[in-house]
Amino acid sequence: MQAQSFSRLLAPLAPVHDRHESFSPTLLTLLKEQGVWLAVHGRAGARPRLAVQCAWAEALAAACPATAVLVQSQMTLAHTLALGGTPSGLALVEDMRRGVITGWGLTEAEAGSDVLSMRSTATLDGDSYVINGSKRFISNAGMAAQYLVFARTAPEHSSRAISGFLVAAGAEGLSIPRHERKLGLRACPTGDLVLDAVRVGADALVGGVGDGVGLALKTLQWSRPLIGAVGLGIARGAYESLRDLIESEPGGLSVLTGARQDDGHRVADLVIEIAAARALLYDVARRADEAGTLPAIWEASASKTFCSDLAMRVVCEALAIGGRAAVKPGAPLERYFRDAKVTQIFEGTNQIQRNAIVKNLPSFSGEAQLAPEQSTVLGKPAAGMPPTRPGESP
Ligand SMILES: Cc1cc2nc3c(=O)[nH]c(=O)nc-3n(C[C@H](O)[C@H](O)[C@H](O)COP(=O)(O)OP(=O)(O)OC[C@H]3O[C@@H](n4cnc5c(N)ncnc54)[C@H](O)[C@@H]3O)c2cc1C
Repeated sequence: MQAQSFSRLLAPLAPVHDRHESFSPTLLTLLKEQGVWLAVHGRAGARPRLAVQCAWAEALAAACPATAVLVQSQMTLAHTLALGGTPSGLALVEDMRRGVITGWGLTEAEAGSDVLSMRSTATLDGDSYVINGSKRFISNAGMAAQYLVFARTAPEHSSRAISGFLVAAGAEGLSIPRHERKLGLRACPTGDLVLDAVRVGADALVGGVGDGVGLALKTLQWSRPLIGAVGLGIARGAYESLRDLIESEPGGLSVLTGARQDDGHRVADLVIEIAAARALLYDVARRADEAGTLPAIWEASASKTFCSDLAMRVVCEALAIGGRAAVKPGAPLERYFRDAKVTQIFEGTNQIQRNAIVKNLPSFSGEAQLAPEQSTVLGKPAAGMPPTRPGESP
């Protein structure tokens, strides 16, 4: 199944998910039956392609941002488990290919952006670890079969003091006492995990002792472009909703070149910015795939920030241009507006992304990188290419 075809099946479920504040059982069946998990995780043992995962996240978000975030969270966690390389983690990736849902437990009430303030502990006791603490804002809480929980294995304020452990949802001592009521992404369950003397075997460790922060940071280099893709999908969905709305009004789209020329220019700016965001995101993802590496830190942050800020901007512009029809409760733009905001917050807030870019300033002094087939003389179209596409006017 291709991402675009799946998103057509998904679109009618989006308002239902939002209204019921939960995913419909139909969605979970569709994700399995239509082979989405296999498509996004890639072939067993093979490195997934970031550009393919971004294309899925974008297509799903244009139809239903909550579903996109569910799928993105699984792509992200599978990446951490693959990086950790331990047998229990790799076995879980195989289960995820078959649709087992997992959750990522890093954030705490007093440790969001500043991960090193984490208080949860994992203490070695014989041949097992005993985990105590609590986690906040954990996506898929109550829905996941396994959680990757980060906890302190040493007391010092150091990136080597934190490790990651797999904890089964049914583990004794694990509870989920509350869920958040959220502005957007309402179908995604987001809750607290409380770990009260939860005992896990030493084989639950993902990576080595003290690898937790390193694994988390490397995962973010992979997952930030994926959140960018969710933002881009929301921006695209909002723009398409606006276009449909104007088209359905008397005069249709021609009002944008006539009576409402000012709105027309605003819509043109949205088109330019969506195209620019796409170019940035897929350039970052394709180059990482070709090199077989993670995107550079600044690229991961730039694509996440640009696309998620764009999501917010496009939705706000679309609401302003669309007017009364756009803001009706239940109208797609109203939902996109609520869903867009969180893309600026999770996977590191956009302030934290800007900090990361400033700490890793790139140089642009090299030549622009063109793919071989694009290396034509500037200004001249490549042989056989028409100067404009049929149907387009200059
Ligand atoms: C819907 C949702 C789902 C989530 N899912 C998960 C999940 O599955 N697993 C998980 O572990 N976490 C999850 N999170 C948590 C998310 O990653 C955190 O909310 C995020 O990292 C920010 O942390 P915080 O909310 O504690 O804000 P804080 O870190 O307290 O930040 C508050 C404000 O201060 C700013 N700020 C903080 N430090 C700096 C700084 N150094 N420089 C400049 N500005 C700064 C921030 O940008 C922000 O505006 C989720 C959050 C949400 C909203």
